[in-house]
Amino acid sequence: MAFYGEEDHGQDYLFKIVLLGDSAVGKSNLLARFARDEFFPNSKSTIGVEFQSHKMIIDGKEIKAQIWDTAGQERFRAVTSAYYRGAVGALVVYDISRRRTFENVGRWLNELNSHSDMNVVTILVGNKSDLKDSRQVSTEEGKALAETQKLFFIETSALDSSNVTAAFKTVIKEIYDILRRKVF
Ligand code: GDP
Ligand code: MG
Repeated sequence: MAFYGEEDHGQDYLFKIVLLGDSAVGKSNLLARFARDEFFPNSKSTIGVEFQSHKMIIDGKEIKAQIWDTAGQERFRAVTSAYYRGAVGALVVYDISRRRTFENVGRWLNELNSHSDMNVVTILVGNKSDLKDSRQVSTEEGKALAETQKLFFIETSALDSSNVTAAFKTVIKEIYDILRRKVF
């Protein structure tokens, strides 16, 4: 239970959620869009782990999502076990305009599984849905992979904001629902 809730920090629940996926798929921009409604056209990944907190209210309870960004570690295949520790949710992101990033999703799921001793609520995120003309992965393929792996699925654009909030909220809401089912 300690993983899910910390009653002594002013909020009712604290959920750690991690962003995963290849370099340049848009992880940092998804987080910036969600947490601060910002977008960076030419973002450079910085080294080191960073996270952003985002508060929301569900059923009158204050939930703080602490969302971790790889901040460039993934470029050197050096995402540390500290990054995964205690995570209860994950967004595994690929770029719909770069097939290779979709092919690597399995690797990220394996990494996540090997670092977690519990079921992490995971959503597969096909980002850059605004790049319609250079799409290399169809929505159906994304959906099919998510179904086989029993993941939620959504396509997003950090550029035009579409579905960004929904992607994060789907994970947060599901974690909350699982927790409620365990408590009551
Ligand atoms: P990260 O390495 O996964 O954190 O990816 P970044 O967030 O740094 O984004 C990599 C590049 O893709 C940057 O140039 C972003 O501006 C661009 N980018 C991120 N999200 C989108 C998106 O939804 N649509 C488009 N067209 N570009 C994006
Ligand atoms: Mg980044």
